[in-house]
Amino acid sequence: MKITEIKVRVFTHTSRQMKDSDGHSHPGPPRRVRQALLSVICDDGSAGHCFAPTEAVRPSLIKDFVEVVLLGQHPFDREKLWQGLAHWQRGSGAQLTDRTLAIVDLALWDLAGRKLGVPVYKLIGAYRDKVPAYGSTMCGDEIAGGLATPEDYGRFAEWLIKRGYKAIKLHTWMKPVSWAPDPRMDVRACAAVREAVGPDVPLMLDAYHGYSRSEALWLGRELQKLNYAWYEEPMNEASMSSYAWLAANLDIPVIGPETADGKFHTRAEWIKAGACDISRVGVHDVGGITPSLKTIHLAESFGMDCEVHGHGAANLTLCAVQRNGHWYERGLLHPHLDYDIVPEYLNSPPDAMDAEGFVHLSDKPGMGEDINFDYIDANLVT
Ligand code: MG
Repeated sequence: MKITEIKVRVFTHTSRQMKDSDGHSHPGPPRRVRQALLSVICDDGSAGHCFAPTEAVRPSLIKDFVEVVLLGQHPFDREKLWQGLAHWQRGSGAQLTDRTLAIVDLALWDLAGRKLGVPVYKLIGAYRDKVPAYGSTMCGDEIAGGLATPEDYGRFAEWLIKRGYKAIKLHTWMKPVSWAPDPRMDVRACAAVREAVGPDVPLMLDAYHGYSRSEALWLGRELQKLNYAWYEEPMNEASMSSYAWLAANLDIPVIGPETADGKFHTRAEWIKAGACDISRVGVHDVGGITPSLKTIHLAESFGMDCEVHGHGAANLTLCAVQRNGHWYERGLLHPHLDYDIVPEYLNSPPDAMDAEGFVHLSDKPGMGEDINFDYIDANLVT
């Protein structure tokens, strides 16, 4: 069994979101956008797939790096193939990113699951078949009836609890909102949500990522008064010393890193430095499931939880194979968006949530995405 082809299909679909100038998602008018599907194909006809931003699987990356490492190799040699790509990053002139590593790694895991007829979370070794979700809001905005005021957050939190969510994480206001960031407004939103849901619902905050130490400390102390469950990325993660200082000065668990470069190596340094109380990993942050498992086990070795960042079938898979993590991040959510609308390129939702707030793992072979290949082939960009 050998890998014979790396295929990238670029197609269009309807998006109801837009990105602001800082890259945050907000609701927007329906528009056609491009997306890619990367497929790793073998000589016996077996294949594995992963959706991708088009830029992360552009032809030069596939030809110069991915094909060179993968073609002719056994698709189950995931560690060897991942190391082969990761080793090449340093010499790639910053072309080969963790995002591309992740897409290839996820396609290889999907291929193995499909070939063996088992879901990937069972292939890895499942800990659970369903995961409680927290509702993760979009960033604050200036949209009427959206997430423009603390009262908006409070109203939306009430709705989220009625929908079944057992916990909520706020993303508050950031640039380019005209008056943001403002830690006092963050506290007002956090207080409105605590008031709306009562004392027992776990709440988390992911605020502006560029506060100073003194702003971050003040905000963290206010969150402690509101009994928040964790405090996420209030400062630039490039300064690990700032996080060690913050964690030493607060009782509320500090979680991270999320976006810092360096895969599991960086997570190890943060744990050693006391820069976090809960570790953090997502498949797109560290280069796939293969390095995410190392991060989760690293944290477990230090008696530390490791909460999974981001939504989608691969991150849900991570949640299902760990004991030392509690939540699936479902979102991003907004009062003006119906998160449960199934994208046209899927036949069924990847993370449907029941009325009790649990997301159930799919029993389909592979990563569990129910891909609508007919739609993709009918909407190819040629
Ligand atoms: Mg975050």
